[in-house]
Amino acid sequence: MGKQTGYARYQCDRCSKTAFLQESSVDTRTWYAIHRYSSNQITGGEPDQYTLCSDCFSKYTQLITADDKAFADWMSNKPNVLPDLKPSGTVTEPDTEKDAETSGDSETTGKTE
Ligand SMILES: [Zn+2]
Repeated sequence: MGKQTGYARYQCDRCSKTAFLQESSVDTRTWYAIHRYSSNQITGGEPDQYTLCSDCFSKYTQLITADDKAFADWMSNKPNVLPDLKPSGTVTEPDTEKDAETSGDSETTGKTE
């Protein structure tokens, strides 16, 4: 087979899964390079870069999609987008412990002729 070049070793930065792939292989498309700004990088600097396998990438997509929605809600600056922070004591609870049998005159006494 001789000498072959153009291979790359991939390792997921999250789960540590590895793959040794020819760089022209379609399998390289199941690996993702992501860029992420953390909270201390938001006003400057380069984003962190990570390599993710397809499994971790799909989980990251779910995470970041929820994050996108939270940010869009926050950015809209409308009231009541944050979770309601009322004290829990004000919640009206159903009276389950109290005697639910409310003076049950089940026996029909009204025998009127
Ligand atoms: Zn992974």
